[in-house]
Amino acid sequence: MFRRTTHSPEQTRAVAERLARLLQAGDVLTLTGDLGAGKTTFTQGLAKGLGVEEPVSSPTFMLIREYEGRLPLYHMDVYRLGEQAGSEDLGIEEYLYGDGVSVIEWAEFVQPLLPDDYLQVTIRKTGESERRIEIAGHGVRFARMLEELDETCPI
Ligand code: ADP
Ligand code: MG
Repeated sequence: MFRRTTHSPEQTRAVAERLARLLQAGDVLTLTGDLGAGKTTFTQGLAKGLGVEEPVSSPTFMLIREYEGRLPLYHMDVYRLGEQAGSEDLGIEEYLYGDGVSVIEWAEFVQPLLPDDYLQVTIRKTGESERRIEIAGHGVRFARMLEELDETCPI
């Protein structure tokens, strides 16, 4: 488990940016946290670390947004779908098992579709501009990656 406390959106982006440099095609990240916790902010950092130049905003009205970088970034927010998300045929799996990095806000709604290996990012609001970030690796692929993130993270 990787843990950090950040004190600004910039710091949250910096953690994510560092993580992004370690990601490979097909990696899946889930983002858990209340509205306003910082899930989209974290995704903006990932995008920067993947070399995405386009600005990343909340995909609330789009469900899935695709960005071009060192690897493609698929940013999904399944909040509006709620409990139905896992049962509807939305083509989410084609992204999850595709050749980009998939980031899913509110992934608890699509839990049954997730691959065996994924990174679970949890963000908790602990103050006005303070956030507790925890990243857990599911599956063997991520143990070493999270150690490396711990050693190299600027925050
Ligand atoms: P979510 O996608 O989880 O609903 P957003 O990333 O859209 O959340 O919004 C997070 C809000 O919290 C932004 O307005 C951001 O500026 C603010 N914020 C304040 N401090 C932090 C921090 N340390 N990390 C991330 N966001 C922060
Ligand atoms: Mg969001």
